Amino acid sequence: MADPSTNLARNIRKEAARLGFSAIGISSPVAQSLAIERYKAMIDEKRHAEMTYMELRIDERAMPDMLLPGLKTIISAAISYNHPLHNRFGQPVISKYALIDDYHSIIRKKLEELLRFLKTIMGEDLNATIAIDSTPVLEKTWAEHSGIGKTGKNTLLNVPSAGSYVFLGEILIDKEIIDNKPPLPNLCGSCTNCLESCPTGALIEPGKLDASKCISYLTGELKREFSTEESAMIGTHLFGCDHCQEVCPHNQQASIRADSSFTLRNDLLNISTETILNLTKSSFRNFFYGTPIFRIGLKRMKRNARAVKENLKTIE
Ligand code: SF4
Ligand code: SF4
Repeated sequence: MADPSTNLARNIRKEAARLGFSAIGISSPVAQSLAIERYKAMIDEKRHAEMTYMELRIDERAMPDMLLPGLKTIISAAISYNHPLHNRFGQPVISKYALIDDYHSIIRKKLEELLRFLKTIMGEDLNATIAIDSTPVLEKTWAEHSGIGKTGKNTLLNVPSAGSYVFLGEILIDKEIIDNKPPLPNLCGSCTNCLESCPTGALIEPGKLDASKCISYLTGELKREFSTEESAMIGTHLFGCDHCQEVCPHNQQASIRADSSFTLRNDLLNISTETILNLTKSSFRNFFYGTPIFRIGLKRMKRNARAVKENLKTIE
């Protein structure tokens, strides 16, 4: 007779696939001391740049049971947003994840549906919480632990068949589900494409990112005006940067593409710096409301556009 836990895990995977998830993994909340050591080293070495919020709640990151009393199982879910796109040379660039409507609400609805399914098969008394980005869970670590992917030299989780253009979310529950999927081995091998292609040298060694040099950080997280050096570093990137993912063979060979709920905002594909510099508060809202860009606000988006406009002059 089949082990009931195995059947349960299989049914959860089947339902998750129906909801559009590219991969789903199940793990127990064991201590992740190595991940926390690495995290603390990043803070000590100031590689988190000016993201001081990362210095907070480190204990909760180490102990996700603080997020749910009696936590027994973490269900990690990955979903692809990989629309096949090619940037044109000399055009302002927006990262793939920002060319779609905000993923948080889309993933939350899917995870809520998955949780309803769990309750129908595990009982309504199941206590659970959903985490997406905002909750300080070491998302990549749990996803790795559950066997759905492996962090690459570019510091991003690579999911077999889906690559790294994936969003992650978790359902934390207070009941045990046993699933014996082992963690994946290293998927990078001798490849160093991401390290070689990073235009700013932000990947200082395999798996080590210095955020202060990363274009994604500079355009999407840094709150103040750019220094002259930072302004030059962002190149043609209006928001985000995908270089270290574009060159990754796992993305180039990915067979799983963007879930149909992530509709591409075609109007953002060819946006010019002039359009952004002429936006008012209300037209900025009309243009970007619902995308990750709306979060940084008009002032910072204009800062990015001014820098890109200057940088474009040097390559025209
Ligand atoms: S996002 Fe861009 S700048 Fe940041 S590490 Fe990757 S390639 Fe380098
Ligand atoms: S580009 Fe190569 S080294 Fe970098 S994450 Fe992908 S497989 Fe690993």
